[in-house]
Amino acid sequence: MPNRIKEEIARLKKERGAVILAHSYQPGIIQDIADFVGDSLELSRIAARESAELVVFCGVKFMAETAKLLSPESVVVLAAPDSDCSLAACMTGADLRMMKKKHPGASAVTYVNSTVDLKAETWACCTSANSVEVVNAAPSDEVIFGPDRNLGTWVATQTKKILHIWPGGCHAHSGADIRDLREKRAEWPDAEILVHPESPSVFLWEADEVLGTGGMIRHVEKSSSERFIIGTEEGMIYRLETLFPSRQFVAAGKIVCEDMGFTTPELVLKALESRDDGIEIPSELAEKAASAVRRMTEIG
Ligand code: SF4
Repeated sequence: MPNRIKEEIARLKKERGAVILAHSYQPGIIQDIADFVGDSLELSRIAARESAELVVFCGVKFMAETAKLLSPESVVVLAAPDSDCSLAACMTGADLRMMKKKHPGASAVTYVNSTVDLKAETWACCTSANSVEVVNAAPSDEVIFGPDRNLGTWVATQTKKILHIWPGGCHAHSGADIRDLREKRAEWPDAEILVHPESPSVFLWEADEVLGTGGMIRHVEKSSSERFIIGTEEGMIYRLETLFPSRQFVAAGKIVCEDMGFTTPELVLKALESRDDGIEIPSELAEKAASAVRRMTEIG
């Protein structure tokens, strides 16, 4: 990255009381300029805690929206405004209302990778890390779960609740090829296999651990293994290599989220220069969606 951009980012950050947040799937160059790197919920909590005047979010749209829900006083700008999430696009509030009609006694639990419109119809949100806990805490024996079918299928194996799962999926994780994972395992037989629950079910059966990105970091920290095969978006390899330079990591397959790659240092600079209001959430949805996110944070 040219020094001029680096210096401008540092200057504007100070001048505007800004904080730069980057998801662990972001390109390495963006992770390096961020004040904090983490999963979407960690970053939203940081946004709420920091109460910065301006939050520049390097990730995809639903993440910036979640940060705005938890820190409504901050201006939250998505650095790459066109970056969206194929999983979040899979299910709408109207889809959930239709499911509720079909299963009138069921509570709705929605993965945080979802639109505000869907969150607003939901009893509680969940992350991949606390999905089982949130489903178990739901006030009914039946739970509507969406939008991710792979995460839902995995949660169903971990709970006594009856799940009605929406058939959505992340294009990047769903397209992973199990032959790539088996090839890596043959090359690194001593490695631990850590797989994200958005991956196809067959990946989860092959995994030593099924974990979200935050869980992967905590697991590597306490593990005595030297090598790890990582079943999630490839940006996570850079994150793990940065945190644990003496360990070795390899991707379980080609899991690439193009939208995560849209962010560039130039766009971060543009976001810092921006004088618009950033992410806006319609007031009729904001309180309901925020309450679903807050319920999740209260459960765990
Ligand atoms: S990796 Fe999948 S779930 Fe994550 S932002 Fe990209 S499309 Fe959405």
